[in-house]
Amino acid sequence: MAKVFIEWHSMKDDKVCPICEFLNGYIWVFQTGENMIGDSLDHPQFGEVWNVNLGSKAHGHDDDSCRCSMTSEFDLTDTLYMVKELREHLVYEMRYVGTSGPSLSKAGVDALSKL
Ligand SMILES: [Zn+2]
Ligand SMILES: [Zn+2]
Repeated sequence: MAKVFIEWHSMKDDKVCPICEFLNGYIWVFQTGENMIGDSLDHPQFGEVWNVNLGSKAHGHDDDSCRCSMTSEFDLTDTLYMVKELREHLVYEMRYVGTSGPSLSKAGVDALSKL
C-alpha cells in the first residue's frame, strides 16, 4: 500500500482569483486499495477543479487563465514495512523449512499480495 499526496499551489500574487487562492495548499490523499487517483481532482466545495485531459477547471471553464500547479509526494512507509515483513518470512523459511526449492508459506504469499 502506498499513499500519494497531491497539493494545489496558486501563484501568490495579486492576479490570483479567490477560488485559486482558496485552493492553495489543499491536499488530496490517494491510497492504493482504498481510493485510486482518477482523471479529475474534486474539491468538496468547488467540484471538479482539475482534469487530466483539460487541465485546471478551477474557473469553471477551460480557458488558460489559471496558472496554478500541483506537486505530488509519495509515502511508501507501509510498502517498506511490508517488504521488510516479507523478507523476514523468507529468511524464516530458508532457515527452518529447508531448501527444497523456492516455496512460500501462506503468510509469505499474504505479505506478497499486499504489495
Ligand atoms: Zn483562479
Ligand atoms: Zn488557478
